[in-house]
Amino acid sequence: MAFLIEDSCVNCGACAAECPVNAISQGDTQFVIDADTCIDCGSCANVCPVGAPVQA
Ligand code: SF4
Ligand code: SF4
Repeated sequence: MAFLIEDSCVNCGACAAECPVNAISQGDTQFVIDADTCIDCGSCANVCPVGAPVQA
């Protein structure tokens, strides 16, 4: 299991700062999660202002 970031992402970067395993990075149009690195902790979803990270 891993989280993924939906298109509603507004590129604020808050989630990347909170991820304990640095699975989140800035992609071409929005932030993206490396599913192989994500440990499913949910921290990104908790800090996101628009609820873009969701459990895949
Ligand atoms: S669920 Fe946790 S480990 Fe996975 S991307 Fe979000 S903050 Fe990082
Ligand atoms: S916290 Fe939410 S809006 Fe901000 S970069 Fe992450 S997914 Fe996008």
